[in-house]
Amino acid sequence: MEEANGVCNGTVESRRPPHVAMLVTPGMGHLIPLAELAKRLAARHGVTATLITFASTASATQRAFLATLPPSISAVSLPPVDLSDLAPDAAIETLMSEECVRLVPALTGILSGLRETTRLVAFVADLFGADSFDAAVAAGVPRRYLFFPTNLHGLTLILHLPDLDVSLPGEFRDLAEPVRLPGCVPIPGTDILSPLQDKSNPSYRWMVHHGKRYRDADAILVNSFDAVEPDAIAALRVPEQGRPPVYNIGPLTQTNAASPAPRAACLEWLDRQPPKSVIFVSFGSGGSLPREQMHELALGLEQSGQRFLWVVRSPSDEGAVNANYYDAESKKDPLAYLPDGFVERTKDVGLLVPSWAPQIKVLAHEATGGFLVHCGWNSVLESLVHGVPMVAWPLFAEQRQNAVMLTEGVGAAIRVPETKKKEEIAAVVREVMVGQGKGAEVRAKVAELQKAAEEGLGEGGAATSALDGVVHKWIGGEEK
Ligand code: UDP
Repeated sequence: MEEANGVCNGTVESRRPPHVAMLVTPGMGHLIPLAELAKRLAARHGVTATLITFASTASATQRAFLATLPPSISAVSLPPVDLSDLAPDAAIETLMSEECVRLVPALTGILSGLRETTRLVAFVADLFGADSFDAAVAAGVPRRYLFFPTNLHGLTLILHLPDLDVSLPGEFRDLAEPVRLPGCVPIPGTDILSPLQDKSNPSYRWMVHHGKRYRDADAILVNSFDAVEPDAIAALRVPEQGRPPVYNIGPLTQTNAASPAPRAACLEWLDRQPPKSVIFVSFGSGGSLPREQMHELALGLEQSGQRFLWVVRSPSDEGAVNANYYDAESKKDPLAYLPDGFVERTKDVGLLVPSWAPQIKVLAHEATGGFLVHCGWNSVLESLVHGVPMVAWPLFAEQRQNAVMLTEGVGAAIRVPETKKKEEIAAVVREVMVGQGKGAEVRAKVAELQKAAEEGLGEGGAATSALDGVVHKWIGGEEK
């Protein structure tokens, strides 16, 4: 059949909707923004999409999320891949990168199939998926894009890694001076991306490798917006030989999140709280705290005198702060680890939700006045989109870097001191919620960023125009 073989004449071909294939490396934090990009492409440009996921993340949370997507977006899972030869303590970044390379043949098969059944105009891979460009080339997909779900600071660092690998011997954490990159807030070595903190760990080599491979993309789409890192976007707009063009297309945050009936109990609870009186406490899809810090956080919240809504997970033993990464469900009853009497003492001002909360709805609620956040980029964007000032408590991945950028750069958060004592936690929480000094500045800045984000995503806004330009290249087809 002419059409099914994808060799049809221009008239038939142009009647089929353009289709994009997106590779989603593990983590809800990767899936959510890519799905959002797919939704925007469908709504504005009539582009259909296939989200290609990894078998290792076929969790109930992920399945439920995929089930909420509109019919223009389908999902297909890659087959399971054997990683049993890797070290038992291999870093997440290593697992994802290895999975991606080992899945190139299977992905080539899926992309070849999509070329036959759809008008496949582009392949988009996310930050750990650049090796999958090989599959796109083998399957003859015309364009390869990288979707970077965090920010320009993170992207700039990865793009510079192959050079830094040569120019900065030794460990980042031992550097006397912060790392200075074009347009970026100087980042102290200890706050640099966690997989780069031990150069003997394979995850470091993988990141250097990704920094090289990003250059194979036709362009890089970033889930950030100009107002939150103005100097970084200015630096990246200066063309550089061999570096793909970079477009800010964010903030893409989850819209039309599923509304399970009955409405979540925590939202009913928020309905009963005064406006902007509650601090929401959450550490992303997979973060959990060591026992000791969980204890101090509980007492700090209590001492702050502020109302709180806390998504509690059982503690990470032996410092494995990303223990829940591949599956957001807490393995044990997390409430059992709280200080004695805490639940009873705080029952009138606090609500504890085990494992998972409808975060977008919580942030959108008028009772929410602050967000104690692990600085995962999706959470940060969701906070900014809803005008919620932040208390930064970074854990792993690029979260410490994000905390530096938010606190030392744009000024949208105050960071909890490294010592994490209950008095310090209480003071920072109070300042962000009701303080008249730094807290008031942060609240004003966040209101400004909320407005800028909204304008950018509106008709004629910077993010909308950038994505329009990209799609024009896909559909126009004459240039990449
Ligand atoms: N999330 C949620 N409920 C939770 C925890 C997380 O809805 O209880 C969502 C959150 O809204 C965000 C994503 O999961 O969209 C977490 O992504 P982020 O980049 O913030 O952190 P990561 O999970 O990658 O550490």
